Amino acid sequence: MNSPLVSFTEISPNKTSPRNHTIDTITIHCTAGHLNVRALGTHFADKNQQASSNYGIDDEGRIALYVDEADRSWCSSNAANDNRAITIEVSSDGFPPYAVTDSAYASLIYLVADICKRNSIKKLRWSHDKALLNKLDDNSELRQNITLHKWFAQKACPGPYLEERMFDIVAKVNALL
Ligand SMILES: [Zn+2]
Repeated sequence: MNSPLVSFTEISPNKTSPRNHTIDTITIHCTAGHLNVRALGTHFADKNQQASSNYGIDDEGRIALYVDEADRSWCSSNAANDNRAITIEVSSDGFPPYAVTDSAYASLIYLVADICKRNSIKKLRWSHDKALLNKLDDNSELRQNITLHKWFAQKACPGPYLEERMFDIVAKVNALL
């Protein structure tokens, strides 16, 4: 099942079907360049890109589906992460801090809350601590259920703008759960 908030769908061939793990993690990305949902869909439709995300959000706050939640997207440079995570690409500036629009940010909150509700993620937990990656299979409070692409690859993603706001995102989403 996918989000009812989606207004554009273009399923990408770049995926592994089905995912091999329960959905228990959220990974938010930035596109490092402004793309609307249609343009990002065209990008992910290209097999040569070897890339995709479950969802995308554009500058107008439109939400797109590119890979069914049941399937693993190729998004975070880490198979184990993408098997357990819903990945979301948010349209952003192409330069640091990779800022996103207020409309995209607002849609991100609603989309993540919807994903959590439908997948029985009762609370988002975020400590901004890469060292806790080894706790991903723990049931303790130390377990974060948000991960960052930059923890898996030499990238800035999701960029300072979203990374600095992750506590705010978590607080706003949890208020909706
Ligand atoms: Zn990324």
